[in-house]
Amino acid sequence: ASFGFRNVPEEAKEGMVREVFDSVAAKYDLMNDASSMGVHRLWKDEFVASLQPGRRGPQKCIDVAGGTGDIALRILDFAREKYACRETTVDVVDINGQMLKEGFKRFKKTMYHNTPQISFTEGNAQGLSKEQFPNNTYDLYTIAFGIRNCTSIPAVLEEAYRVLKPGGTFACLEFSRVDNPLLSTLYDQYSFSVIPLLGTILAGDRQSYQYLVESIRRFPAQAEFSRMIRDAGFKTGKDVDGAAWVNLWGGIACIHTGVKV
Ligand code: SAM
Repeated sequence: ASFGFRNVPEEAKEGMVREVFDSVAAKYDLMNDASSMGVHRLWKDEFVASLQPGRRGPQKCIDVAGGTGDIALRILDFAREKYACRETTVDVVDINGQMLKEGFKRFKKTMYHNTPQISFTEGNAQGLSKEQFPNNTYDLYTIAFGIRNCTSIPAVLEEAYRVLKPGGTFACLEFSRVDNPLLSTLYDQYSFSVIPLLGTILAGDRQSYQYLVESIRRFPAQAEFSRMIRDAGFKTGKDVDGAAWVNLWGGIACIHTGVKV
């Protein structure tokens, strides 16, 4: 469609139960802010700044599990503000049409609305449509706080590898493992008591936030995830002139990158 909202049933596009989606997204953003005390914004800024979108000219980017477009907006703003680049594009993909709908609404208030710079498509990170997302298409693949929710990490990495051009970059921002024992204890206390409590108070939904905390614990630690990225065929670390990962806040979150060879 001309406004770049693909794969959503026609009847869902207009006249959706707006209140429902409003409340979902409102709670989502509120909980994000509350549970991380706003820190997720700083991490996202750092994630995008580390990728320098637009530095080497316009880039074709895909932001998978992109939700309401937090990363996409930062990529486009960064390229424009830092490198005066208005030709970098981001295709946002998410399995949840409601999140995309919120993202689309949000982008309506930006200069990117109705431009080829942004599109929203429903899709599964573990099996992207080959017609919509052909092999060797993108310069940059981003996934922020999304891979943890996928049932098969190798399947996500395989798809990332497929859609990236040779030389393209895979970049993941995700909660990770804290190695400092003191920080780790404080963080455990915080996440196992405060976050489910906030979930109950703010969203009336303790279980979802309990799940959130548990999914963070289950996700592989830095070195293991890095090995999985290499197993998918990417080069990481010294091979590509940098660190395989960069911890944020002692490992509470972490940026992993890899380059398709
Ligand atoms: N990247 C956004 C951000 O950082 O604000 C959203 C993160 S949100 C915590 C996780 C997102 O992953 C949700 O929007 C959810 O719908 C999406 N998601 C979960 N499983 C997915 C899958 N298999 N494929 C694509 N998206 C998925």
